Amino acid sequence: MQSGVDCWQVWFLCLDTTSEVRQRVSEAMEKLRHCLSLDPAKIDLSIGPVPDQMVATVRETLLGKPNHDLHVQEFELCKRFRDAGLPRTALVVVCPGGHALATKALLQLPHALWGWRSGQLSLVYRTPFDQYILWHETLHLIDAKDCYTVDGSTGAVTELGPTCDCMGCVMQYVPTEDTVSEWPFLCMENVELIRRKFERPDT
Ligand SMILES: [Zn+2]
Ligand SMILES: [Zn+2]
Repeated sequence: MQSGVDCWQVWFLCLDTTSEVRQRVSEAMEKLRHCLSLDPAKIDLSIGPVPDQMVATVRETLLGKPNHDLHVQEFELCKRFRDAGLPRTALVVVCPGGHALATKALLQLPHALWGWRSGQLSLVYRTPFDQYILWHETLHLIDAKDCYTVDGSTGAVTELGPTCDCMGCVMQYVPTEDTVSEWPFLCMENVELIRRKFERPDT
């Protein structure tokens, strides 16, 4: 395990959600943090809500320029994190289906029915809220990859997965309560990818 500035941290922000959803997001993130601290991952991932002093900055980056491409917004967000001295920070945003950010994500990636990720930004927009989608998109932020297959030319999902050695892997397409196992709900290949991210000092 590593500690302090070498660690990646994940912040979460709920937009236009009910207090019940906000509570469920907090609980799901705490559970994920705990699971990742156990074998076989043993990762000390810091997970928490966007700190009060950064909320206005983050909201302005995401909502202030509605016509901006999501990738451009992710780029600007990373710059804000660097400017604040927090380069190893990633953000997951939870919002309802139909939210402006969700609409943009779907236009860009039609098979991303309930969640989307680019670089240090993930969006989760399934209604009703589902913790497995949240875990899937959060794990992408720390380098986990999808365990399903997409046709490179059509963008269509050709195999729902899991295409790995873990039958209950949360990185399959549309993970649900019925298809995701108890921890470890992540294949060894993804455990290794995540561990490697935490071992790299410079990214
Ligand atoms: Zn994915
Ligand atoms: Zn997997």
